[in-house]
Amino acid sequence: MNQNGQPRIGVFICHCGTNIAGKVNVSEVVAFAAELDNVVVAREYKFMCSDPGQELIRQCIREYNLNRVVVASCSPLMHEPTFRVVTSEGGLNPFFFQMANIREQVSWVTEDPEKATKKAKAMVAAAVRRVALHDPLTKKEVPVRPEVLIVGGGIAGIHAALTYANSGKKVYLVEKDASIGGHMSHLDKTFPTLDCAACILTPKMSEVGKHPNIVLLTWSEIEEVSGYVGNFKVKIRKKARYVDISKCNGCGACWENCPTTITPSERIIRKGNIIIKTVEKEA
Ligand SMILES: Cc1cc2nc3c(=O)[nH]c(=O)nc-3n(C[C@H](O)[C@H](O)[C@H](O)COP(=O)(O)OP(=O)(O)OC[C@H]3O[C@@H](n4cnc5c(N)ncnc54)[C@H](O)[C@@H]3O)c2cc1C
Ligand code: SF4
Ligand code: SF4
Repeated sequence: MNQNGQPRIGVFICHCGTNIAGKVNVSEVVAFAAELDNVVVAREYKFMCSDPGQELIRQCIREYNLNRVVVASCSPLMHEPTFRVVTSEGGLNPFFFQMANIREQVSWVTEDPEKATKKAKAMVAAAVRRVALHDPLTKKEVPVRPEVLIVGGGIAGIHAALTYANSGKKVYLVEKDASIGGHMSHLDKTFPTLDCAACILTPKMSEVGKHPNIVLLTWSEIEEVSGYVGNFKVKIRKKARYVDISKCNGCGACWENCPTTITPSERIIRKGNIIIKTVEKEA
């Protein structure tokens, strides 16, 4: 099959019943497309994504020795994968395909049929120009790091971390404050069930701390994210604690005796929008 060399383009224009054909003069667009550079054949069909519509494309690829395909129909979100498969079944690289969206972007949003037809022609012409420049692409598999990074150790981050960790994934949970827990750790009861907030939260916090699949990084912040999907690199700053956390048992004696502002200094207990208590110590 001639995939490279001079482009031999087939253009296929869909009616989508009356969705497109009710507004766009499809036959006029087909005649226009047939005259464009490198276009060998231009066809129209009622429902291009149907089996007969797909077969029409495959048949034309063989019959006219096409090496590029343009379909003017609906949004690529809807049927780009369908027509890439059809292009591939016709013997071409699936990326020698271009879609023009003349339904969502034309017939559904343009009142005047004449303007809609003109716009459809412009979009078909653009797709034809573009597909002539396509290179064949091949899919390749690359290794990905399956670890998960969760930023924020509120109840949402805690629950997500436990869900991933329990499914066997390694999780890094990064929390900027000294402890995980987030807003829920400031609440007494939770609306609407008036369940005890601490009774729900603390077992989960403790489970996070002990889970073999979770690396908990509190008092830490993201500094830099680089890489790409599946292979991110993240730089995390662990802020100085001045305490050996492997020895600290949380007795609170340092809090009482600390000559400077204590931690946590920003803790605010609210009732609705009213602050009822701030736990803060003067320097
Ligand atoms: C006064 C009050 C009363 C509430 N009452 C109820 C209630 O009765 N019932 C109910 O269902 N909900 C209630 N809510 C809402 C509930 O608290 C929140 O929906 C819930 O706690 C949100 O959880 P979260 O994990 O999404 O966020 P948060 O609890 O806000 O946690 C976010 C965490 O992310 C951390 N973080 C933020 N940015 C960064 C960063 N850049 N790097 C690292 N860490 C970061 C924060 O320090 C925090 O620990 C209430 C909220 C408030 C404020
Ligand atoms: S290809 Fe898209 S526009 Fe054509 S019939 Fe199918 S859904 Fe409608
Ligand atoms: S005094 Fe208590 S809370 Fe403070 S660092 Fe030592 S063990 Fe931890």
